[in-house]
Amino acid sequence: MAKNSSIEWTHHTFNPWWGCIKVSPACQHCYAETFAKRTGNEVWGPNAPRRFFGEDYWNNPIKWDKQANMDGVRRRVFCASMADVFEDRDDLEEWRGKLWELIEKTPNLDWLLLTKRPENIGDMIPWPTDWPENIWLGTTVENQKYADERLPHLLQHKATVRFLSCEPMLGPVDLEKWIKPNQEKGLEGIDWVIGGGESGPGARPMHPDWARTIRDQAQSAGIPFHFKQWGKWAPVDHLPPGTKGTKTVINGVEMTLLKSKKSVDRSLDGIIWDEFPNSYPVRENTSEKPKEEETTPPDDGVFPVFPEHSIAAFLNLYREWEMTLDEFNEITDASRLTHPDFPGISLPTLEIHDNEKFDRFLTTFYQQAVAYGKSLAKAEGIKKADGTKRR
Ligand code: SF4
Repeated sequence: MAKNSSIEWTHHTFNPWWGCIKVSPACQHCYAETFAKRTGNEVWGPNAPRRFFGEDYWNNPIKWDKQANMDGVRRRVFCASMADVFEDRDDLEEWRGKLWELIEKTPNLDWLLLTKRPENIGDMIPWPTDWPENIWLGTTVENQKYADERLPHLLQHKATVRFLSCEPMLGPVDLEKWIKPNQEKGLEGIDWVIGGGESGPGARPMHPDWARTIRDQAQSAGIPFHFKQWGKWAPVDHLPPGTKGTKTVINGVEMTLLKSKKSVDRSLDGIIWDEFPNSYPVRENTSEKPKEEETTPPDDGVFPVFPEHSIAAFLNLYREWEMTLDEFNEITDASRLTHPDFPGISLPTLEIHDNEKFDRFLTTFYQQAVAYGKSLAKAEGIKKADGTKRR
């Protein structure tokens, strides 16, 4: 919708049209429908028209692409916040075709297509096998039922990144059988997991253990995890003392209904999970001078992380042989870690006085570095020592 979108996980938002039909419990409080109504657009439901836009609007991604090219960075575009790209309606076909052309014309943008209708993808895309490299394809998984229904459809497609959005998370989700490649069925695994609670009027609470489970499964599989928000309900132990709001207890955890989702930060167990996959080797931004490397922790005890040279060394080692976490710990210590201007790995900041958190942090870094190393190796066509291709 607007340049510099405030959605944390994207830089821009683009809508090929407005309007949709609700398809599952995640749609119950669809903010897009509320927003459309509030702005006088009756575009929801099977009989309502959709809202389309002119050439000026469609030219915006071309400008973003040029800018991204000039800046030497890739930008993510979330498509679409006010619709579902894979809704099945005759009058959308022409606009979907226009969208596919636009995606092909903007190679410096990564297009995030998130759908609740992955069963329609195969019939609606013009690329039976070779998808453009700048598409990240995702589906919403609000509970186990929709994980089991939607993920097999998603994983049949060879998009550069396949992701799932567990938001709003309405129940526990076990990703075990989906998160890793299923060689029997010839399906490759998931590349990115996003979690988050529901915001807005009538929001339903997300039990913290649901979020922890998908985080832990993603982490143990070396897959990036992004925690977007708690939403309107947050566990009391994640809130500043004295935070007011209606309380409820869910499976032994006291949750508070917040006046605003901004009353709580995006941390889960003290860590901001801002991990992203890397679909391409990330180019250096030559228009900016590199920042001076920081060698000592700042006074407030919040420790930025890892020097660029140790990460580069690690990645080289990774390419040579599959490093274990123990081996990684042997070559890594806090004195060698400073803040990187290193776009391939996003790392949380945390207080290093807490040894347990620091250990978890090291593990997180290791897993992200492995994922990044894999994406570089994949992009460069580097093979494992036994000659097989890396995923
Ligand atoms: S699919 Fe998305 S846009 Fe459509 S009704 Fe559901 S939540 Fe709203």
